[in-house]
Amino acid sequence: MKKKINKMLVLIAALAILFTVILITFVYYDLFQKQMVEDLRGYHFIAQSCENQEQLEKMGQRMMLSNVRMTIVSMDGNVIYDNEADQSIMVNHGERPEIVQAFKTGEGHAVRRSETLAKNTFYYASKLDDETVIRMARDAGSVYSILQSAMPSLIGTLLLLVVMSIVIAHFLTKRLIAPIERLASNLDESEDESDYEELTPFVTTIRQQHQDIIKSARMRQEFTANVSHELKTPLTSIMGYAELIENGMAEAEDVTRFASGIRNSAARLLTLINDTIRLSEMDDGNADMVMEQLNLYEMAKYCVEMMEMSASKHKVSMELQGTDCFVTGDRQQLEELLYNLCDNAIRYNNPGGEVVVEVSAAEGASVLVVRDTGIGIPKEHQDRIFERFYRVDKSRSKSTGGTGLGLAIVKHIITGFNAKIEVNSEVGRGTTIKVTFPNK
Ligand code: ADP
Repeated sequence: MKKKINKMLVLIAALAILFTVILITFVYYDLFQKQMVEDLRGYHFIAQSCENQEQLEKMGQRMMLSNVRMTIVSMDGNVIYDNEADQSIMVNHGERPEIVQAFKTGEGHAVRRSETLAKNTFYYASKLDDETVIRMARDAGSVYSILQSAMPSLIGTLLLLVVMSIVIAHFLTKRLIAPIERLASNLDESEDESDYEELTPFVTTIRQQHQDIIKSARMRQEFTANVSHELKTPLTSIMGYAELIENGMAEAEDVTRFASGIRNSAARLLTLINDTIRLSEMDDGNADMVMEQLNLYEMAKYCVEMMEMSASKHKVSMELQGTDCFVTGDRQQLEELLYNLCDNAIRYNNPGGEVVVEVSAAEGASVLVVRDTGIGIPKEHQDRIFERFYRVDKSRSKSTGGTGLGLAIVKHIITGFNAKIEVNSEVGRGTTIKVTFPNK
């Protein structure tokens, strides 16, 4: 960018200089031409003061020293006198425009270019009282020759100016870019205002993205740390059981108990790994999603049937209410959502408790409600249960096979479905979770 601005500035400066030089040359030449005619008129006045032919010819000789040519032409165009050439061999001048004009109006002037283009001849002619015309002429360099002779100094000045503009452009660009470079290095300091207000929206977006990236990196770091930590417990317990068996410290009847401990821990590890993979997939947007029209009631029914076993293990009864109701989305994700909500409603329930799954159609939406008569969630925790690894009662979660990731996955799915989730819970009375899917 610096290089580009630099180049542009130098180019603009060089063009401006060139243009100015050419313009000045032409303006100057125009003035010079006018001055030339004025000078010739001056000589003419001097010549007019001569009283006779002899004086006039003397004056003509003197004018030669100033490179002024004087010619006297009679009415028929014949040259009566010329201070530079023999008038007897000179051609008739009757047709020359300045002479014609002088005979007509009393005064005429003309500029004629020599064949080489290098010279211009300026003529001023005026009629005298004795019906002759006296003409003054002088050579001067043409605009081209003036330009040519001025070329070396012109090029020199041009080079000097270009060098100057390169130096100035260098410093100017540096100053122009400085605020942008300062912004780039101070992206974190949000109060650092940009010097260019045009850049403000751009800077705001970049800052926002920068903050998002940092936040997401921090979240991933925390997540990895949490996952590692969660993996440790079941692995330590597996190693503990294995060591006991290895050292022969396990009685025959203990082995079955230890094996079941190992199996439970391994199952825990598996669930944890599965949940972690699911979340990572969803974070990266890699989860394969097949959008289709799904019968929410049918799927809830299937889920309730699947969960019957687990419910009876926890001495909890399950009930499904409602009618056919449709939502659009990925089947596997809706299954996961139903499973996680029902699983929580069973695990955080009391023996003899109840879980009701209710599907209904509301205005422009399909509604899923999972209601339990369990332990409930204290108000201050309700906002945080969707965070990864956030658990209200850690030991209960772990002892019932929870990973602390279930509701984090639910939240991800809800976003994908464009749905809305509400938690209504009272400690000791139970929890109601309501999901509203838009009909679209
Ligand atoms: P977990 O695997 O620990 O169940 P979740 O993400 O599914 O993790 O839930 C997070 C926390 O929210 C749980 O540890 C639990 O304390 C609380 N919770 C979730 N659902 C319920 C519920 N229906 N009743 C009571 N507490 C719940």
